[in-house]
Amino acid sequence: MKTIGLLGGMSWESTLVYYRLINQGVRARLGGLRSAPIVLNSLDFAEVEPLQVSGDWPALTQVLIDAARRVEQAGAEGLVIASNTMHKAADDIAEAIDIPLIHVVDVTAAALEPEGVERVGLLGTRFTMEDGFWRDRLKSRFGIETIVPEPDQMTTINRVIFEELCHGVVRDDSRRRYLQVIASLSQRGAHAVILGCTEIGMLVGPDDIPVPLYDTTELHAAAAVDFAIGEAAQD
Ligand code: GLU
Repeated sequence: MKTIGLLGGMSWESTLVYYRLINQGVRARLGGLRSAPIVLNSLDFAEVEPLQVSGDWPALTQVLIDAARRVEQAGAEGLVIASNTMHKAADDIAEAIDIPLIHVVDVTAAALEPEGVERVGLLGTRFTMEDGFWRDRLKSRFGIETIVPEPDQMTTINRVIFEELCHGVVRDDSRRRYLQVIASLSQRGAHAVILGCTEIGMLVGPDDIPVPLYDTTELHAAAAVDFAIGEAAQD
């Protein structure tokens, strides 16, 4: 198996989910006591989040490049950034390392394409919903359109991520608010909704609503398993 480099801590609540899903995926495919070789570099989110809020993306990019180089030096053969938001720096990070970066948008698109989904709703941090880095890649590389929530809805979605989910707090009233936003995205023409923040799967899941949901944490973790197992899966 290949060794996965996991950049986590953004927040650790969702890194925990990645760790579990990747190991469960390897065990499901290979059986027995098999588990995933992982080099985890878990950052202190209190050093990352203020740079996001102040918009200091050059500094953040450097933090992530340094972190990615450390996992590469420790033997990782592919990089998984366990945060959609930090994919804003993905191109720069990919250029700075010699191992492949498993991009969250590409793995999500690979799940959307066979279903013929042409227009999706996107939930995530305000950086992910407002900035072009997620939706532009989805459009330019895969031809899939993105609808984002209305401004007041974005404020709620973002607040719940940083004030609740990143602290491990899951509230029924927040789930109701999310489901209302998902319903409104569907009414505005979204054929499916992307849970484009690695913590949202803690709050809503496919059983909560009839709109097809694509949870980037599940898809990204599954892609990491595919990467790790590689040809061994065909043995
Ligand atoms: N885990 C998050 C994401 O997927 C949000 C935390 C962050 O801002 O990095 O975007």
